[in-house]
Amino acid sequence: MELIYEKSIPGCPGYYVDEAGFEEVAPHLDASLMRAAPAELPELPEGEVVRHFTNLSRCNFSVDTHFYPLGSCTMKYNPKACERVCSLWGFTDLHPVWPQFLGGDLLTQGALEVLYETERMLSEITGMAECTLQPMAGSHGELTGTMIMAAYHRDQGNKKTHIIIPDSAHGTNPASATLAGYQVITIPSDENGRMDMDRLRAAVNEETAGLMLTCPDTMGIFNERIAEIAEIIHAVDGLMYYDGANLNAIMGRCKPGEMGFDLCHLNLHKTFSTPHGGGGPGSGPVGVVERLRPFLPVSRVILREDGTYRLHYDEPKSIGYIAPFYGNFGVVLRAYAYLLLLGAEGIREASNHAVLNANYIQARLRPVYQSVSDAFCMHECVFTGAPFAKFGIHTLDLAKGLIDRGIHPPTIYFPLNVPEAIMIEPTETESKATLDHFVGVMLELAGLAETDPEQLHCAPLSMPVGRLDEVAAAKNMNLTYEG
Ligand SMILES: *Cc1c(COP(=O)(O)O)cnc(C)c1O
Repeated sequence: MELIYEKSIPGCPGYYVDEAGFEEVAPHLDASLMRAAPAELPELPEGEVVRHFTNLSRCNFSVDTHFYPLGSCTMKYNPKACERVCSLWGFTDLHPVWPQFLGGDLLTQGALEVLYETERMLSEITGMAECTLQPMAGSHGELTGTMIMAAYHRDQGNKKTHIIIPDSAHGTNPASATLAGYQVITIPSDENGRMDMDRLRAAVNEETAGLMLTCPDTMGIFNERIAEIAEIIHAVDGLMYYDGANLNAIMGRCKPGEMGFDLCHLNLHKTFSTPHGGGGPGSGPVGVVERLRPFLPVSRVILREDGTYRLHYDEPKSIGYIAPFYGNFGVVLRAYAYLLLLGAEGIREASNHAVLNANYIQARLRPVYQSVSDAFCMHECVFTGAPFAKFGIHTLDLAKGLIDRGIHPPTIYFPLNVPEAIMIEPTETESKATLDHFVGVMLELAGLAETDPEQLHCAPLSMPVGRLDEVAAAKNMNLTYEG
C-alpha cells in the first residue's frame, strides 16, 4: 500500500498535473499484474458504441437537460466543481481500512479533516452540538435519530411507547419510528394543511417518546407554532425531531436547534450538492443537542491537541455502528466543497432565492390554479388539480402534458392530504426566464384542459414510451432483455 501511494507523490512515475491544474496519477501497474493476452471483447465500431450510449442517455430527463421542479425532493443544480473535487486522486485512491498513521505519514488526515470540518459546518447550520455523517440516506438518518431517541429514553429510565407524526409527513418518518420499535400516532392536518393542535394535545402523554416534524412542512408552509409544539412535547420529556431533508428554505437563516428541536437529519443529496434520483448514493447526517451527544453512533472524528485528527470509538452510550466505515464519503466531500464554495453568505442567498422563486411561481399560477393556502410559501408551493375534474382532466394528465413540452413534472398526488396535488419546487438556481416559460406552459395546459382535454389524455406523445402503468411495472417486474 505504501508503495502504490508513493507513486502518487510529485515527481514519481505516473504523476502529472492536468490542464486544469489538478494533480493526477496515470495508472501505473506492475508488469506481473498485466494481462498476457488481450481480453476477448465484442468487436464493435467505436461510433456505434458512442451512438448507442449517447442515445440511451438522451432518453433521460435530468436537471442537466430539463427544468425539474419536483417538490419535496429538491432536484437542484449541483455545481460541477464539486464533482471535480471528489474525483481528485487523493480522495478516490483512499481505502477505508488504511491506518490513520502509516510510517509517520498522515495519509488519511486530509479525509479526516474533511469529515471533521463538514461535521462542524453542519452543526453550525442546524444549531446542533454535534452531527454524525454516517447515515447513508435521509431515511437512514431518521432511523439513526429514532434509535438515538430510544437510547436516550432507555438511559433515562423512561417508559415510552409511541412517536407522534403529522399526516403530511414524508412516508419514511413513520417507517423509521416503527423500525426503532415505536408505535406511530398520526395527527391529521386542519383545513389549512397545518397540524391540528387540539388533536396533538389529546395525543401527547407520558408515553410520548417524541414528535417528528418537517418545517417548512410538506405544504411548503413554515409552522409558526413550533415553539408551542416543542413546549407540549418537552413537558413529557419527549424529543423534537426535525426532518431537514430539504433545508433549502431556511439554511443560513434559522436553525432547528433554535426552534426547539433536539435532533434532526439533513439530506446532503438534496440540499448540499449531490445529484439525486435513481436511488444513487446519499447521505443523511444527524445532528443532536448536547444532552443527546453520548448516544451518537461511532466512529467519530476528533481533533486532538497536537492538531491531528483521529477516529474515536470509546463511547459507552453510543447506539454503535450505523454504517460501514464513515458513511458515503464522496457525498460528504461534495457537501464540504459546496459549503466552502458558497460560504455563509452564499448559503443564505441560496435559501433567499429558493423561497423567492417558489413564491413567484405561486403568485403567477394562482389566478388559474387553485392554491391550497393563501399564505406565502417557503421553498415549494402546492396546488390542487381538483377543479379540472369537471373537464375530465386529472393532475396526471397535466403532468404528462408537461413532459411533451420539455419540463419534468412536479411532484403529483403528494402530499396525500391534498386531492389531485401538484407540488412545485423550482429551487434557487433557476432563472426568471425558465420560471416564466414554466408558468406559460402551465397556463397553456389549464386552457387545453377546457378546450381540448383529449390532447392531454393522449400525452406524452414525444417520448420513447407513452403512458406507463407504473404500479403494474413495479409489482410485476420483467427484467428480461430482448435484443
Ligand atoms: C426525501 C425525504 C426523506 C427521505 O430521504 P431519502 O434519502 O430518500 O431516504 C425524508 N423526509 C423528507 C421530507 C424528504 O423529502
